[in-house]
Amino acid sequence: MATSPQKFILVTGGAGFLGSHLCEALLGDGHRVLCADNLQTGRLENIDHLSRENRFEFIEHDVVEPISVRVDQIYNLACAASPPHYQADPIHTLKTSFLGALNVLDVAKQTGARVLQASTSEVYGDPDVHPQQEDYWGKVNPNGPRACYDEGKRCAEALFLEYHRQAGVQVKIARIFNTYGPRMSPGDGRVVSNFIVQALRNDPITVYGSGGQTRSFCYVDDLVRGFIGLMNSDDSVTGPINLGNPQEVRVRDLATMIVRMTDSRSSIQQKPLPQDDPTRRCPDITLAKQQLDWSPEVPLSNGIKQTVAYFRQHLAQDAETPVALSA
Ligand code: NAD
Ligand code: UDP
Repeated sequence: MATSPQKFILVTGGAGFLGSHLCEALLGDGHRVLCADNLQTGRLENIDHLSRENRFEFIEHDVVEPISVRVDQIYNLACAASPPHYQADPIHTLKTSFLGALNVLDVAKQTGARVLQASTSEVYGDPDVHPQQEDYWGKVNPNGPRACYDEGKRCAEALFLEYHRQAGVQVKIARIFNTYGPRMSPGDGRVVSNFIVQALRNDPITVYGSGGQTRSFCYVDDLVRGFIGLMNSDDSVTGPINLGNPQEVRVRDLATMIVRMTDSRSSIQQKPLPQDDPTRRCPDITLAKQQLDWSPEVPLSNGIKQTVAYFRQHLAQDAETPVALSA
């Protein structure tokens, strides 16, 4: 139950992968949670188990539209995060990033709520500097297919910091690096869910390009702990602050690891590398360690094991295609 006085907390994008885990953790800490989501990529099944709790409320709402609510804290997570999804309707992605940020910041300005923005390592684009520190300005293609997301999130960061400087709003900006775990959607399109679903179905594993590009994967529980730590940090801490796991992994090595861990018969199938796909990505988390006393604890193999178990169960329930059910 509550370790701090009960708060009323708005989570936008709360029916999505990260949002549903965050809502669950906040309820676990004894708070009241209002989850606002347009269900674009989120799913009601992610929050079904929370709906039985009378401290939890869901509203179907698009953050592009203003919202009127009096809360103590706001976590702004609403935005499709998977490249195929955010590129499917790029104008809506840009509106979500900018207008969504504007609308929650206006609520915070009017009510005095604290507001946390789920920003992204994509603000660094295809970086020249490794690992990425918060003071690196990044290398983003401003008019390529990823720009709707990258530039939308960069603009949202600027808006957050101007609301802080000009209007005194208490803001927190988390730059999230690739995070994975249970409740990713099987059709999400991101690398961890794709590879696990393909491996469990014994389908070819789709490695884009040579697979030599890297990402650094953070388990969802670690990330959520970082979110809550940042939200409740000292007033002087605004971020942007990197939240991610600094263990850097090649995409082709991730494929091999998942095939091995699932005892899959899948082969590796090479597919074209999407335009502007970042070559390397790895967070420098010195700031998070210093300011939040935060660092990730879940090793990749443990996190992947949990995620495989989730998809095994999920696919066995849902899919018509048989999956490898052995542990
Ligand atoms: P997700 O797609 O599972 O969740 C996003 C949620 O936002 C979904 O429930 C979706 O329906 C909702 N949404 C999208 N547009 C909306 C709108 N206009 N109005 C209301 N709801 C809307 O993705 P996720 O991985 O849970 O990502 C959550 C947040 O974290 C996103 O803002 C994303 O940019 C950020 N982030 C995630 C990662 C990651 O690796 N998971 C990395 C960097 C940043
Ligand atoms: N990727 C891949 N196969 C897939 C999905 C993704 O090889 O089926 C690659 C993708 O090209 C990128 C990395 O995995 O290099 C991470 O992709 P994801 O979409 O998960 O996230 P992002 O590119 O936004 O970091």
